[in-house]
Amino acid sequence: MNFSAHNLTLTPNRIFCIGKNYSEHIKELGGTQAPTEPVVFMKPACNIVAPGETLHRPSYGDELHHEVEVVLLIGKEGKNILKADALPYISAITLGLDLTLRDIQKKLKKAGLPWELSKSFEQSAPLGIFKNYFPNKIDLKNLPFSCSVNGSLRQKGNTREMIFPIENLIQTLSCWWTLRPGDIIFTGTPAGVASLQSGDKIEVESPSIGLFSWTLA
Ligand code: MG
Repeated sequence: MNFSAHNLTLTPNRIFCIGKNYSEHIKELGGTQAPTEPVVFMKPACNIVAPGETLHRPSYGDELHHEVEVVLLIGKEGKNILKADALPYISAITLGLDLTLRDIQKKLKKAGLPWELSKSFEQSAPLGIFKNYFPNKIDLKNLPFSCSVNGSLRQKGNTREMIFPIENLIQTLSCWWTLRPGDIIFTGTPAGVASLQSGDKIEVESPSIGLFSWTLA
């Protein structure tokens, strides 16, 4: 699967995911403190699922949670990018689902173990169609987005509620890694995460990005 943005063809590289970036979501999972720097984990790019495809639950774990997130596609290489210079590194944006096996994640967290089994399973990264990003057209500091299941609103968020705004995320990630074309960043989920059942239709939507949906087998 390749993405095209601004006449570039980009092959998905790494998927960086930001955890704990919305206060109300930290609270709903029983947390009390905001992180002092971005919480980062990764998913392999082969876990991307295009809109309209059927999702299949992993063979282990009971609580499969939806986490709607604004997702960025990096279009050029950068290291130690300053916050003020960050936006031109974004080539396109969309919405995605950071699917999470919450019961497995709780067990792993408690045991101090890595999160891969709960976050990086096959099909764990449903991703909408990327839309070219123009800094003067879309305000990433005030972008509303939502997630509905079977027509009922479950999550409603706005990027202005982020603990670490998008420019800060790019600055910090680019200190830790060289960002490369094709890198994808899931920017964190707002409150309202909940379990999915077989047959559920999950829709993610933002007025300036679009609407994308998946069905769970
Ligand atoms: Mg997430």
